[in-house]
Parts: sequence; C-alpha cells; structure tokens
Amino acid sequence: MVNRLTVKTMALCMLIISGSRMSPGRDRDLIADLVIKNAKVITIDRDNPRAQAIAFRGETILAVTSNESAEKYIKEGISTIIDAGGRLVVPGFNDAHIHFGPIDPDYIDLRYITDASIITKKVKEAVARARRGELIRGGRWEHEMFTDKQWPTKELIDAVAPNNPVALTRADGHSVLVNSYVIRNSKITRDTSDPFGGEIQRDPATGEPTGIFKETAKGLLKYGAKPVRLTAKEQLQRQMRGWQAAFDLAARSGVTSIQLAGGSDFKIFQKFKDMDKLTLRAYIGGSLTGDEQKLRRYAQLKREYPRDGNWIRFGYIKGFIDGTLGSGTALFFEPYLDAPDKTGLPMMAYDKFEKMVVDLDKAGFQIGIHAIGDKANSWVLNAYETAQRSNGRGDSRHRIEHAQVLCDGDIPRFALLGVIASMQPTHCITDKRFAEKRIGRQRCRGAYAWQRLLDAEAMIAFGTDYPVEPICPLEGLYAAVTRKDRAGEGGEGWFADQKLSMEKAIELYTLSSAYAEFTEDRKGMIKAGYLGDVVIFNQDLMTVPHEKIMSAKVDYTIVGGKVVYKREGAE
Ligand SMILES: [Zn+2]
Repeated sequence: MVNRLTVKTMALCMLIISGSRMSPGRDRDLIADLVIKNAKVITIDRDNPRAQAIAFRGETILAVTSNESAEKYIKEGISTIIDAGGRLVVPGFNDAHIHFGPIDPDYIDLRYITDASIITKKVKEAVARARRGELIRGGRWEHEMFTDKQWPTKELIDAVAPNNPVALTRADGHSVLVNSYVIRNSKITRDTSDPFGGEIQRDPATGEPTGIFKETAKGLLKYGAKPVRLTAKEQLQRQMRGWQAAFDLAARSGVTSIQLAGGSDFKIFQKFKDMDKLTLRAYIGGSLTGDEQKLRRYAQLKREYPRDGNWIRFGYIKGFIDGTLGSGTALFFEPYLDAPDKTGLPMMAYDKFEKMVVDLDKAGFQIGIHAIGDKANSWVLNAYETAQRSNGRGDSRHRIEHAQVLCDGDIPRFALLGVIASMQPTHCITDKRFAEKRIGRQRCRGAYAWQRLLDAEAMIAFGTDYPVEPICPLEGLYAAVTRKDRAGEGGEGWFADQKLSMEKAIELYTLSSAYAEFTEDRKGMIKAGYLGDVVIFNQDLMTVPHEKIMSAKVDYTIVGGKVVYKREGAE
C-alpha cells in the first residue's frame, strides 16, 4: 500500500525526471507495469487537461504524457500495454452517495415498470418459489412512472400472497407497500394513528390502511416472516456471492470509489481486501446519533480505518432531516401544491438535531445530512452555521446529501459555510416528471440547481443514491448534460440553464467527489503520483450525440493500476 508521503515523493520524482532521457541502467522504479497509449485522456487536471498516454507503476500513476514520451517507461517483458486506439480515458468514477450492499438474487426488481399489474404477476411468481410464511421482498417501483400515476395498494398483492408477508419498497426507499398479511400481523387498523415523522396512507372513503407506509410508519410493521433455514455456512456463502455480485456490478460500471450513505460491514470489505478481491475504494460512515456508546464506536472505527488510508476508510455521519419529494414527505416552507394541507415531515425536532450536529462537529466527525425540501436544507445550513460559530471553522467538509430544492437565499450559504452539496443528477430527471406538480415552477428554479450552486462557488459532489437510481455513471452524466428524461424527449431540457458540460459533469463525479471524502490529493485526477484508477470507454462521451451517452460501454476499469474489469470483446 502506498501512503500519502510516498505518493508525494513519487510526484516530486516525476517532476525531476520528466523530459530527461534515462540511462540504460535506469531505475526499476521508472519502469511501468502498465501503459495505456493512443488514448484521448481527459485528466480533470487543470494543469494538464489532455494527454495520450498513462504509465502506471504499482498502485499509482507514474506519468501522464504523450505517446512518444510514454515509450521510455515501457520495458519488454515487464510492461503490459493497452492500445486504446483513440478511445476515451477518464478518472475512475467516485460515487459520493451510495447504498452499497450484497445483491440478493430473490429480490423482485420493479424498476422502470409502468404497469402496476406487473407487481401482481411478479409477486405471484415469487410466492410460487417461496415457502409458506417466507418474506417476499422487492421494490424500486415508482408510481409516478405508472400510466395512471396512482399509488399501488395492498389489493394488488393480497390475492396472490394470502400466506406470505410481502414488502415492496418504493424506489426512494422512503415508502413501502405491504399486503394485508403484514398489516394484520402488525395489528394496524383504521384506528391506529400516524407516528411522529410518518404516515399510514388511508383510503379517503373508508379510512382503512391502503398498504402504503411512509417514513417512520414503516417502523410499525411486523412482518412475522418465517425465517429461511440456512446453515451458517450456506448463509455466509450466499452473503459472499451477493457482495461479489455487487463489486462486479460496480467494476463493470466504471465505479472505482464509493462513499456509503450510512454504515456498512467493515469486516466484509476487509475480507475482500485480504483476499485481494476488493475492486473499489470505500468510505464507510455511520448513522447520526447522540448515543455516547455509538460515538465511541465511531471514533474507534475512525482510528482503525483512518482518512489517510486508500481502500477502506471511516466516512461521514449520515442523518435525515426530511423525506422525499416522490413520497411527498420532503420538508418545505410552503405547502405542497397537490396536498395544500401538507408541508412534509421533519424527521426530528430542530433543536435536538442541531445539538447532535454541534456535538459531532466538535468531536471532529464529518457530517452529511439528507435534505430535500427547501426548509430541510435551510435547517441543515443553520445547524452547520451554529456548529461553526460554537466550535470554530475547521476543515470539516460537512455535506448536505441531495440538496434538492433550495431557496434563493440559501444557495450562497454553501460556499460561505464550506458545505458540500452531495447531489445525484439522475434524481433530477426522475423527479422532474412530478416536481412542478408537487411544488410549482417557481420553487423548481432552485431544484437540482447545479449551475446556480457552481456560480455561487459551491462544491458539488456527484453520486447516484444506488439502488434508488442505477449505479451506472453514464445515466448521471446524461442527466447532467441534458436534464431530459431517459427516453430522450425533445426540447432543450428542464431548466436548461442548469445543464453542465460533459467535462464539468465528469469533474463533479471524480475530483469533486474525492474532495467530499478528503482524497483530492490522490484521487479524482489522472496525474502523476495519483492512485491509478481510470476507466476506458468504447465511445467518446465528449463528442457522441447526447442520445448515445447511456448506451456507451465501459471497456476497462482499472483500480490501483490493475485491470479489474475488461468487457468481453473489447480490444
Ligand atoms: Zn440515499
């Protein structure tokens, strides 16, 4: 493992040797293990924006240069050469907001369905494979994509799953559809009241629960599932297969670093690392808490997985202050247009929230708070401002996760307070279909307002919120440069003045994401001394027509100078 000091020393070496001819008995350290040549390299390095060749040695980049000068790093029998044949090479993608976990082969994937009857069909199939009483899980449905745009109800699944609990999560993860089996088992009736920060959706005529439970109301559910009996060994095997599938998905998508929104299993990542099978770098945090014992545990993890590591590092403390626009639970100053008696749901009282933020800041943790509505974003900025006032301003790099709808006065506060807007461009093209219906055109001026934030000198880090949205960075790049739906609608795009250039979008997804996790000194650029994480595409994203962006393919993903994915058939 190369530490930061070594990286810097190597960078210095490069400065000294670059341009000079080397003697035949040249230092082994200047021979590349891997060289990519004949490439169109977009480096994201302002001092050296374009190059033709990259030489890698060990885990880091030795040189970023022309085809001609790359020759001096090549030694037959030692250096592997990839002839890119003019293809595009960019820094590896760093997903700044992801919920990364094992992929479950039994999960019913309802992403992008437009016909709610598919839910019935798929649940019926799953029940046929399951044992009586076994939990049927699935989700990623999005009712705004249904042709009738109606929330699904338990009636869709009751008849096909009379003897199994069913839980189907909405794409945003903030609402769940369950069947009557679960409602009965949870002893929830029309007389059960909504918990704080949650909603039991009810039939307006009868008052009966519809099967949709939002936010904290999900906590009322008791699935009563019969456990699937697996031996400990079977369980472990299943878990490892699921994680391997997830790492493979990231590798073939060109994702070389991830920042988990919340906690994860450090041991699993360590296990893959120890087996030399970890193909991405992970920044893993914890959940917002005021609990002393948990905070001590976080502090210990932070020492165990320190910031100056390169693979598994303790990340930021993630909290929620509101819900989502799609579920109608995001917190706004003014009511929803389509629900005039509602302004959304705060997840906790402001004073309690502010105290936690101030304490965590004092203890030296980076904080990232989920905020969607304009009021939610204001609250988080207020809390960060209070923290700064009471603890002083350090290099805290606190973040707002999503920063989706901002009021005019809050946009400059990001740069003023040094708060990072951690945003997901695909959310814009998913939510734009219903955003104006919910909150009106005026408030949408501050929605997914990337360009306005950049003009105000804010730092934006891009991510996906996977599995809420697909992990594939190409969808995010497409969203950022078009602000159009995935079907490629006509026109200039939604609030077209907020569109970004392709190069800027790549920068936010690489270098700015690296900044959001304190690694801009070694990640996010293709630069001598930096970690050797790059992606080769089969299409030139800089020039390809917009409608072809999402069908481009990753040909190679290289992490730490090692090829971790090569597309079948790629040269
Ligand atoms: Zn998320």
